[in-house]
Amino acid sequence: MMPEIKMIDYMVSYQNHPTFKNSKKSPVRFFTTIDRNKFVLSPPLYENCKECKRYVTVENRHCSVCKNCPSRDGLAVKHCGLCSRCVPEKYQHCKKCNTCSFKNRCHSNSKDGKD
Ligand SMILES: [Zn+2]
Ligand SMILES: [Zn+2]
Ligand SMILES: [Zn+2]
Ligand SMILES: [Zn+2]
Repeated sequence: MMPEIKMIDYMVSYQNHPTFKNSKKSPVRFFTTIDRNKFVLSPPLYENCKECKRYVTVENRHCSVCKNCPSRDGLAVKHCGLCSRCVPEKYQHCKKCNTCSFKNRCHSNSKDGKD
């Protein structure tokens, strides 16, 4: 069996998807107009968050403190209690700055003042 067979099956079922059935709108529209409640994407990369009532990436975990799925780019996030907000998972909380940022991006160490 060639893997291509599965791919074709997938494309056919996608074209028969109820969202597109009665619509002449191109899927390209999704990139220009985002209607989050109607925004339907296929698993496994996306999951419907029951709390937010929208589709989010599986890495974008719902935060019970922020009461949303905070990631804007779909990457994994974690909640920082000190910042009282969700930050990218790679960030570390810096006690000097009292802010989360990349390890090597401590604001107090930056000489040129660039953010
Ligand atoms: Zn959510
Ligand atoms: Zn949070
Ligand atoms: Zn923090
Ligand atoms: Zn710092």
